[in-house]
Amino acid sequence: MSKKAAAVLLASSLLLGACASVTESPAPADPPSAGNEAGKSGATEPTSPSSGTDAAAGSEAPAEGKDKPAETGSGGDEQPPKLYRMDSAYNIVPIKEDGTEKKVVLLTFDDGPKDQAMVDSLLDTLDKHKAKAIFFVNGYRVKEHPELLKQIFERGHMIGNHSYDHIILKNEPIAKVRKQVKDVQELVKDTIGTAPVFFRPPNGAGGDVGHQVAKEEDLLYMTWSNGSLDWTMKKSDPNKKQAIIKNVMDQLHPGSNILMHELPWTVETLDELLTKLEQKGYSFVDPHSIDTGVIE
Ligand SMILES: [Zn+2]
Repeated sequence: MSKKAAAVLLASSLLLGACASVTESPAPADPPSAGNEAGKSGATEPTSPSSGTDAAAGSEAPAEGKDKPAETGSGGDEQPPKLYRMDSAYNIVPIKEDGTEKKVVLLTFDDGPKDQAMVDSLLDTLDKHKAKAIFFVNGYRVKEHPELLKQIFERGHMIGNHSYDHIILKNEPIAKVRKQVKDVQELVKDTIGTAPVFFRPPNGAGGDVGHQVAKEEDLLYMTWSNGSLDWTMKKSDPNKKQAIIKNVMDQLHPGSNILMHELPWTVETLDELLTKLEQKGYSFVDPHSIDTGVIE
C-alpha cells in the first residue's frame, strides 16, 4: 500500500514536467469563470429517443432497492432516478422544486484520460467522498489509454464527449465538427459499451456548429458555471492548491457545474476541495441523475 502510494507520488511528480507543457494549452480562450459563450443560452435538450442503451456489459445486478438513489460508491449499474436537469446557465437544478436537494455541485474533469497515477488518485478521492463525476474525454487520449477509460467507467463515473482532438470547434466546417464528435461517440462505445450523453466543446467554444452536432447526436451540450481555473496554472506557480480552492469557493452556488482538469495540481487539491464543499453543506450530484432528454 505505502509502496503504491510512493509510486504514485513519484509518478505524479515526474508527470509535473511532462503534463504541464502538453495539457490544455489554450488557456486564454477559456472565459475566466463562467463558461457561457455570451448569450448562448440555448441549451436545447434533445428529446428524440436515441437507439442505444446497451447497459454496460456483464452487470446484471440483483433487483433490489431499484428506486433508491444509489448513493454508495458501488460499481453496480443500478442508476438513480432522474432528479435533476441542466438550466440555460449550465447549472444543475432539481426537476421538481420540492424534495430534491438544491445544494449540489457537479464535478467534471476534462482532457483525459492521460495517466494511470493521476486517474487512480482522482478515482480514490472521489470514492472517499462518495462522489460521482463526468470525465470529458478526448478521442486521441482514449485511443492511447483505453484501459483508463474502462477504469473510470467501471468505478461508476460517466464519460462525456470533449471532441477527438481538442480543437476549437466553433469556426470549423460542420463536417469536421461532426467527425470530431462522432468519432468519440464510437470510440467510447466500442471501449465501454455505451456512448456519451454529455458534450462539452474544448474551451467552451462550440459555436452554432457545436450546438447543431450535439443535437444531431442526442448529446446534452454544456460548458460550465464554476471554473476552477486550474488550466491557467503552471507547474512553477506557487499556491496552486489554494488558488483552485479559492476560485471554486468564490463562485460557489447551488447547482455549480465545476470545471476541472486531469492535471497534477488538481489531483493534489481534490480531497481538500471536496472536504471544503462538504463543509459548506454541498453534496455531489450523481451525473446519472441528470435528465439529458436522451433515453438511455
Ligand atoms: Zn479541454
